[in-house]
Amino acid sequence: MSTPTSAPAATAAPEASKTSNFLRQIIEHDLDKGTYASRRWAGSPGDAAHHAAGEPDPAKIRTRFPPEPNGYLHVGHAKSICINFGLARDYGGVCHLRFDDTNPEKEDQEYVNSIIDAVRWLGFDWSQPGNSQPYQASDYFGFMYRAAEALIEAGHAYVDEQTAEEMRANRGDFGKPGVDSPYRSRSPAENLARFRQMRDGALPDGAAVLRAKIDMASPNINLRDPAIYRIKHAEHHHTGNQWCIYPMYTFAHPIEDALEQITHSICTLEFEDQRPFYDWLLQRLIEGGLLAAPAPHQYEFARLNLTYVVTSKRKLAQLVNEGKVNGWDDPRMPTIVGLRRRGYTPESLQLFAERIGVTKSDSWIDYSTLEGCLRETLETTAHRGMVVLNPVKLVLTNWDEVMGAGHLEPCTLPALPHPPEGVASPLRHFQIGKEVWIEREDFAEVPPKGYKRLFPGNKVRLKGGYVIECTGCTKDANGHITEVLATVVPDTKSGTPGADSVKVKAAITWVGVSDGVQAEVRMYDRLFSDAQPDAGGKDFLQALNPNSLKVVTAIIEPSLAHAQPDAKFQFERHGYFVADRVDHALGKPVFNLAVGLKDSWG
Ligand code: ATP
Ligand code: MG
Repeated sequence: MSTPTSAPAATAAPEASKTSNFLRQIIEHDLDKGTYASRRWAGSPGDAAHHAAGEPDPAKIRTRFPPEPNGYLHVGHAKSICINFGLARDYGGVCHLRFDDTNPEKEDQEYVNSIIDAVRWLGFDWSQPGNSQPYQASDYFGFMYRAAEALIEAGHAYVDEQTAEEMRANRGDFGKPGVDSPYRSRSPAENLARFRQMRDGALPDGAAVLRAKIDMASPNINLRDPAIYRIKHAEHHHTGNQWCIYPMYTFAHPIEDALEQITHSICTLEFEDQRPFYDWLLQRLIEGGLLAAPAPHQYEFARLNLTYVVTSKRKLAQLVNEGKVNGWDDPRMPTIVGLRRRGYTPESLQLFAERIGVTKSDSWIDYSTLEGCLRETLETTAHRGMVVLNPVKLVLTNWDEVMGAGHLEPCTLPALPHPPEGVASPLRHFQIGKEVWIEREDFAEVPPKGYKRLFPGNKVRLKGGYVIECTGCTKDANGHITEVLATVVPDTKSGTPGADSVKVKAAITWVGVSDGVQAEVRMYDRLFSDAQPDAGGKDFLQALNPNSLKVVTAIIEPSLAHAQPDAKFQFERHGYFVADRVDHALGKPVFNLAVGLKDSWG
C-alpha cells in the first residue's frame, strides 16, 4: 500500500499500477503502424497549408480535454483529464486544453479561470514548445465559416428555411425515414448567397439554418442532414458581436480537433452516434484540401457515474443557486474545487482514475472507491494528531501530590508512525498536567459488556502519557457528567523505563487542558442519502442527506493549531482532516473531515 508521494504529481501514478485498456491498445497499435507518423505541426493550430509548412510533429500523439466553460469541473471531468493528459504523458504526446466556447450565451471567464486552476492542480500541463496558452474554439470561427462555404460550394450543405417544427417532423424517426426539405435542392450559388445573408445579420434568430447534405433516409438520425450553423444574435465573451451565426457543436468539434492535429479524440459514449458525422465532415474537408490528413479519430469511453453524487453541471448549479450547499467549493460538492477543499489530493484523484480504469460500458462506481484512494494517499503522508471531538474534562486527583503542584510534564509522539525508510519522523510536542480533555464516550459509569476504557476501577493509558486509574465522576444537578476523576500511576510515562510495568487493555486519546486549543471541526457526510440520487428522472433534491454537515467545537493538540491551510492530518482514531483552505487561520483553526479511517457506510 505504499504510494510514492514525493514525485511530481504528473508522474505520481506508479508505472506498475497502470493497467492496459482499450485506449492504450489503440494508441500502441497506431504508434506501431505509424498511423500518424506523417503528420506535420506548424507550432499552432491551423489548416492544411499551415501545417504543411511546419515540421514533422514532435508530439507522437495529440489528445485534448475540451470543456465548455459553463460551470465548474467535477469528478467526472477529473477522470477525463487524467485519461487525456495521462495518455499524452505516457506516449510521448501532448494534450491540449481547449475551451469549447462555441456557444455564445452560457460561457464566462470565471469558469475559464477555474478550469485552468483545476487542470494545473491535478498536476497536468498543456504547454508545448512555443505555446503555453490554452486553445479556444472561438479562435477557429473564421476557419469554420470558410469550411461551411466550402461545403456549400461542393454541394455538401444547404440553407434550410423550414420552421423548427417542420424540420423536426421531416426528420422522421427510428422507424421512419426523413423527408427532404423543399430547400434541399437549392443551387450552391443560391445557398452561398443566403448563407452570407445569414452571416450579415439579414435574418432573425431561427429563420434559417445551414445543414449538411447527407442522407435523409440514413438509419443514423445524426446523418439526416444535421444542422451545422444557426443564427444567434448574441454577444460572445471573446468575439463580441463579430458573429451572429454560430457553428453547432457537432460541426465545430471535429474541426477543432483537426485544426489542432489531434490524433485520438476521446469522448464519452453518448457521442458514439455522432462519430459517422465526425468522419464524414473531416473527409469532405480533407478532400477539399482545407484540412490536413490523416484525420483525427474519435473514441468513446464510459462516463463516470459515482454513487451518492450528481455530476450534471446543471444540477450542481441548482445546489449552489438554491443554497443547498455553500458554493461551488463546498466540501460536499463533487466539483474539483469542492473535493480539494474537502482534503482530496491530486494524487488521490489520479489514483482513482487509474483504479476505475477505462471501459466501453456504463457502470456505477461506488463512492467508497474514491474515499479509499484518498485514505491510501494520506496514510503514509498525513501527520498524526490527537483531537477530542466531544470533550469532557478528566481530573487527575493525585497529580499535585505525586507530580508536584501545577506540574506540567512534556510528552512527545511521532508525527508519522510509519515514516518512509531512512526518514526520521518529526516529533509532536504536548504536555500533560492535572487536567486533560477526553472523549465523553471514553467514560462509562456502568461499563457495557467488553468495554475497556474508563470506568471506576479500570486502568487505561493516556496515549503518549501515563497510565491512569478511574475513580468515578462528578455530575451536575441534572445528572449530567461534568468531570471524570482518576489517579495517575507514577513512573508509567510512555517511552520511559518501566512504562509497561502496569498492563492496560486500552489507550485513549486526549488533549491537555493546559495546551489544547479550541477548533471548529466540520464533520461532513455524504450530500445525498440515496445511492443514485438522480437516476431514472428522480428529483435529486428529495435525496439530500439532512445530516451532511455537523459542526463541533473540538480541542486539538498544539501541533495542529499551527497547521497551514490545506494541510492534511490524521486525527487519531477519528479520520483524516484538512485545515480548511478558506476559513482556517492561526488563532482560529477550522478543520474539515475528509474521510473516516474505515469505510463506515453500507
Ligand atoms: P455536463 O453534462 O455536466 O455539463 P459536459 O459533458 O457537458 O458535462 P464538458 O465541459 O462538455 O461537460 O466536458 C468536457 C469533457 O469532460 C468532455 O470530453 C466530456 O466527455 C468529459 N466528461 C464530462 N462529464 C464526464 C463524466 N461524468 N465522466 C467522464 N468524462 C466526463
Ligand atoms: Mg458538454
